[in-house]
Amino acid sequence: MKNYRILILTLLLTPGLLSLGCGNIAGAPSATDKDTTQQPVAMQDHSNNPYWSTTDTTKLNVSKEEWKKILSPALYHIAFEDGTDAPFTYEYTDYKGNGIFYCAVCGNPLYDAATEFHSGTGWPSFYQPLTSTSVDHVSDGSLGMALTAISCSRCGAHLGHVFDDGPKPTGLRYCMDGTALVLEK
Ligand SMILES: [Zn+2]
Repeated sequence: MKNYRILILTLLLTPGLLSLGCGNIAGAPSATDKDTTQQPVAMQDHSNNPYWSTTDTTKLNVSKEEWKKILSPALYHIAFEDGTDAPFTYEYTDYKGNGIFYCAVCGNPLYDAATEFHSGTGWPSFYQPLTSTSVDHVSDGSLGMALTAISCSRCGAHLGHVFDDGPKPTGLRYCMDGTALVLEK
């Protein structure tokens, strides 16, 4: 019975492992400790995060040590230790509604939900950022190949990677870690 369960789990995870996805999923934290209650961003409690703002675009210069005190361990791992969510774990991976996805670390608006598309990878995927300055593109050779990592332009948090196999009109696939996103519907 136990082996059977492992087999099923392997089968479920295999498509995600075969696709390039967002990066190295080894060591990815479990999604069970993240807050799944989705309130409007403005109503969520960010009182422990003095840097949170959905309107201030001034670049932040906050040390990792400081962020570690403020963020949940799961979010800190994704954002500042280049972590990657396990695929098929984020509630809004194939979200069809309206809304804006914000940086879960600092509140910076990142993506319009209208630009999210079904990539089949198990990670939330967008064909373009909200504005040309919403995210930074950073060269990343950590997986032994030429990759472009995506980080929040305001706080510098690692969010995922961008690939050139996306749909029209851009042909790009911004493959994000859901843990690093907060959706306001
Ligand atoms: Zn941010």
